[in-house]
Amino acid sequence: MPALRRPSKTMYDFIVIGGGSGGLAAARRASSLYGARVAIVEAHGKLGGTCVNVGCVPKKIMWNTATIAESLHDAPGFGFQLNDPCAPVDWRVLKGKRDAYIKRLNGIYESNLEKAKVEHIHGTAEFVNSHTIRVRESPDDAGVEMVATNILIATGGHAVIPEVPGAELGIDSDGFFALEHQPKRVAVVGTGYIGIEIAGIFNELGSTVTVYSRSKQILRKFDPVIHENMLEEMQKSGIGFVQDADVTALEKTENGICVKSNQAPVEVDCVLWAVGRVPNVQKLNLPVANVETTRRNFIKVDKFQNTSQEGIYALGDCVGKFELTPVAIAAGRRLADRLFGSTNAFLEYENIPTVLFGHPTAGSIGLSEAEAREKYGDQVKVYNTKFTNLYYALLDRKQANAFKLVVQGPDEKVVGLHLFGKGTDEMLQGFGVAIKMGATKADFDNCVAIHPTAGEELVTLV
Ligand SMILES: Cc1cc2nc3c(=O)[nH]c(=O)nc-3n(C[C@H](O)[C@H](O)[C@H](O)COP(=O)(O)OP(=O)(O)OC[C@H]3O[C@@H](n4cnc5c(N)ncnc54)[C@H](O)[C@@H]3O)c2cc1C
Repeated sequence: MPALRRPSKTMYDFIVIGGGSGGLAAARRASSLYGARVAIVEAHGKLGGTCVNVGCVPKKIMWNTATIAESLHDAPGFGFQLNDPCAPVDWRVLKGKRDAYIKRLNGIYESNLEKAKVEHIHGTAEFVNSHTIRVRESPDDAGVEMVATNILIATGGHAVIPEVPGAELGIDSDGFFALEHQPKRVAVVGTGYIGIEIAGIFNELGSTVTVYSRSKQILRKFDPVIHENMLEEMQKSGIGFVQDADVTALEKTENGICVKSNQAPVEVDCVLWAVGRVPNVQKLNLPVANVETTRRNFIKVDKFQNTSQEGIYALGDCVGKFELTPVAIAAGRRLADRLFGSTNAFLEYENIPTVLFGHPTAGSIGLSEAEAREKYGDQVKVYNTKFTNLYYALLDRKQANAFKLVVQGPDEKVVGLHLFGKGTDEMLQGFGVAIKMGATKADFDNCVAIHPTAGEELVTLV
C-alpha cells in the first residue's frame, strides 16, 4: 500500500469522511470533473468500504462458488459422470484467491484516487465544528484538524450483535469473510437478505444450515411472491428453519456452540448474526456540528442529501435509505454535480432495482402488491405466473420461477415487478430501465419474446 499522508490544516473545497462506495464516487467526481480541492478520510487501511472488502464483491465470489457447487450436483442429471459431484471446495484456496483479488481492487482504488488528484488521509474523523474535523490515526493520537467549505459524511454502517450471553461466540458478515475453514454446522440468526444469502452459500457448499427466524416469515421487506417461494425452495434444499425463535444465549460446548432459544437447543460449529445493521456515526461527534439523526441514529437528510447543518451532507448506508452500493454511488455523483457543477441534481429514491443473491436468486423493483394497494387502492391490478424453468427438464429436482407484475390505473402503468427463481438476477436490470421510463403492461406485451428463456414469461403475462 502507498504511504499514507498525514493531514495538513489546508482549506479544502470538499472533505469526504469514508472511503467506501459513496465517498469515493463523490470525491473522484468533485476533483476530476470539476477541479475541486478534495480530501477523503478513511479509517481503515484499505479503500473501497463495505462493498469491496466485506460486502458485495466477496459475497458475489462466494455466491458464484456456491452456484458452481449447485451445477456440479446437477451434472449427473445431464449425463456427466463425475467422480464426486459433492466434492467439497478447498476453502483455503478459495479464500486465498478471493483475498488476493480484493487486495488488487484496493490498489486500483488507491491509484484511481491518485489519478483523480484526491488526497487520501488515513485516520478516523470527528467533527470539531461545522467546518472542521479532527483526524486521528489512533485513539491516543492528538490528531490534526482539517477545514472545508463542504463536508460529506459517507461512513456506512456495521452489523448489530445482539446483547445476549455468549453473543461474542458468534460472528457477523465481516467474520464470515474472515473464516479460514468451512464450518460443518452453521446457525444463521436473522432472515434479511444478508442472512438468507449466506445461508444459501453455506448450504450449497455442503454445510448443514439452520436459520433462526423471529416470525414465520423471511425477507420481510420483499413482496410475498419472493419471501414465500424463497422459504419453500430453501426448505426443499435442506435448510432447517426455526420459526418464531428468539435466540437467548450462545454457550460453548465440548464440540461447538449451543444455540439457546425459546425452541429446542441446537449445537453448531458457527453462529452468524445477521439481525440488522446500524450507521457508523458514534465516533463523529455529530452534535458539535449540529447534524441531526433519527431515532435509529441514521443521519437526517433532505432529497439533496443536505443534513440539518448547511455545508454538511450525508449519503449511503449512514442515512439508511436503500442500503446498496449503486445507490450510494449515484447519490455521491449527483451531490458532486450539484455542489461543484452548479446543477440541481439529486437522486430519486424510487424504482430502485435490487437483487437477492440467494439459491435461487430474486429481484425486485418498485412497490410490493400491498404497498401499491395502499397507495392506489382499487386501481391496482396484479399479473402472476409460476412455472418450472427449462433448466430442470432433465433433473429430478425442480425449482420454481415465480413473477409478479403490479400495475395501476386505466393504462396499467407498471409500479412494481417482483421476480423469483433462476436467472432473475440478470433479468431485472433491463426491465428496470423500462419501468424507470414509465412502461405500461401494453409496452411489456409489445416486446417480442426471446425463446426459450424464463424472461419471456414477463412479456406474455395474461
Ligand atoms: C454482506 C454484505 C453484502 C452486501 N451485498 C450487496 C450487494 O450485493 N449489492 C449492493 O448493492 N450492496 C450490497 N451491500 C451493501 C453495500 O455494501 C453498502 O450499501 C455500501 O457499501 C454502502 O456504501 P457507503 O459509502 O455508504 O459505506 P461503506 O462502503 O460502508 O463505506 C464507509 C467507509 O467509511 C469508513 N468510516 C466509518 N467511520 C469513519 C470515520 N469516523 N472516519 C473515517 N472513515 C470512517 C469505513 O471504514 C468505511 O470504509 C452488502 C453489504 C453487506 C454487509
